[in-house]
Amino acid sequence: FSFTTFNFVQLFNDAIEMMQHNNPSHTIRAEFDANQLLIYADQQRIEQVIINLISNAIKYSPDAGLIIIKGQATNSKLKVSVQDFGIGIAKDQLKRIFSRFYRVENLAAHMSGLGIGLYISHEIIHRHHGKIWAESELGKGTTFFFEIPLQQNGDR
Ligand code: ATP
Ligand code: MG
Repeated sequence: FSFTTFNFVQLFNDAIEMMQHNNPSHTIRAEFDANQLLIYADQQRIEQVIINLISNAIKYSPDAGLIIIKGQATNSKLKVSVQDFGIGIAKDQLKRIFSRFYRVENLAAHMSGLGIGLYISHEIIHRHHGKIWAESELGKGTTFFFEIPLQQNGDR
């Protein structure tokens, strides 16, 4: 991992712009508390987490077009949420989705994927001393959250 200090809002906005451009059927709306939220992190890997979460939000909400992304700073942490209004995830599956190769069974037939995006995202967030989790209601939609430390005195 290669840590530097950078503005998370800019990274996220650039990623959103690219994803929006490639997925015109969905509307990606971003709301940030500030124009600048500095984190000391591996920029490429954090970008990968963002892209994994937005890709899932798009893939698993084939009919519902809105995706809402929020970013805020609280208690020296960055908290991010990615919300969709798609197919949702059953309660008993929620804690398994971060496992390697795990995919919700009834989907595998018509939605392609390897089941590693969330596993990788989980590994990356943990390497940043953060956490990642999801809340969902079947048929209504899903919100993924992650939290990582903001830049601290002494970080470069
Ligand atoms: P890939 O490796 O290409 O990302 P994948 O999307 O199937 O494949 P993960 O991103 O790890 O794998 O997600 C694991 C499983 O969690 C998915 O197969 C799907 O069942 C469920 N899932 C993930 N995100 C969502 C979401 N936003 N809404 C509903 N289900 C989701
Ligand atoms: Mg995925």
